[in-house]
Amino acid sequence: MGKVLIIGAGGVGTVVAHKVAQNSGIFTDIMLASRTKSKCDAIAAEVKKRYGVDMQTALVDADSVPALVELFRSFRPELVINVALPYQDLTIMDACLECGVNYLDTANYEPRDEAHFEYSWQWAYQDRFKQAGLTAILGCGFDPGVTSVFTAYAAKHRFDEMQYLDIVDCNAGDHGKAFATNFNPEINIREVTQKGKYWENGQWIWTEPHEIHQPLTYPGIGPKESYVIYHEELESLVKNFPTLRRARFWMTFGQEYLTHLRVIQNIGMARIDEVDYNGVKIVPIQFLKAVLPNPGDLGEHYTGWTSIGCRIRGLKDGKEHTYYIYNNCSHEAAYKETGMQGVSYTTGVPATVGAMMFMTGQWRKPGVFNVEQFDPDPFLAELAKQGLPWHEILDGDIEV
Ligand code: NDP
Repeated sequence: MGKVLIIGAGGVGTVVAHKVAQNSGIFTDIMLASRTKSKCDAIAAEVKKRYGVDMQTALVDADSVPALVELFRSFRPELVINVALPYQDLTIMDACLECGVNYLDTANYEPRDEAHFEYSWQWAYQDRFKQAGLTAILGCGFDPGVTSVFTAYAAKHRFDEMQYLDIVDCNAGDHGKAFATNFNPEINIREVTQKGKYWENGQWIWTEPHEIHQPLTYPGIGPKESYVIYHEELESLVKNFPTLRRARFWMTFGQEYLTHLRVIQNIGMARIDEVDYNGVKIVPIQFLKAVLPNPGDLGEHYTGWTSIGCRIRGLKDGKEHTYYIYNNCSHEAAYKETGMQGVSYTTGVPATVGAMMFMTGQWRKPGVFNVEQFDPDPFLAELAKQGLPWHEILDGDIEV
């Protein structure tokens, strides 16, 4: 049905490569491009072995618009799935505009020199994508991504007025390492060490990092201490669902993880500015990434589950109701299918499903959109078929 270019050959890129190849009736021509071509070649060889599907590979520096334009002009993709890093979002969007290519990503733009992310930079492309007749789908991983689609589904089918939204993200897996991050360490540590923020009564409330916490009970897992942190989908959800009086994001952290994180910060290893080391400029957090376990290698010994969903309170037919919609994903099953752990899997599968929605014309309109602005029904039906089944609990105790 269409040509797709995947950019980024990390944990998420590997899962996307597998899922796209599993759906080669829709993705008829596939290319995987990244900074290190040997990684693309290894993934392509594995995909060929497992599914008999051919995938072209290429080297590209996605920080360079001219390099991207050259690649787009030679391969002529219909859609780019950007699973490189948030730093590359704008250069890839620029190249898409220059070459008439549609765009999908899983994380919003973040400047390298500032641990700060927001949608404004990408929303600013709205008019240009619209005028070019191109679609840009933002934040199509799990969170953001599936959590945003879950919210849209709740608004469409379960509530007349959604009032309270709590997105709950539990990783109850065990990778056997003293400390490791489940996706790119630099992006992950920047995200979880920043101040907390949530939406209440029309304004953002700031908190100290990890200040608000309580145990929450996750289905099939049990109670886990959960912490309010700021997460990017809150920004678009409160805009697209203005009846929300409060919107928060909770993530589970173990005590060991938090202790390591505190030490990393206290000794300056989370710094994102350059320091001089023996005449060489290094950025401590980038050096830390080089010595930490590679998230892509955690899968083999990873046991346990992730459980991510939305807990919502609101009104239906004049009565108050609660609603919980979630997915549980097994790290072991994810590894068996794709060679990657559950966090990469739960990001790569929705990215592929979003790309399928685009290719089949179900999520295709000119402009820049967050995923909750599309019809949630075909996406969620396909998500369940592609390895991430979801469940609903109506009028249960949602604890928040
Ligand atoms: P990795 O670090 O494992 O992979 C990133 C890949 O991008 C690597 O292959 C890297 O190349 C490549 N890359 C980096 N810079 C460039 C560049 N300038 N040009 C070309 N390629 C480049 O990260 P993950 O796979 O864990 O994460 C991928 C994305 O998914 C991130 O943006 C992350 O924020 C997002 N994410 C989203 C989630 C969600 O639920 N929405 C959850 C988890 C992640 P090299 O191999 O050479 O380093």
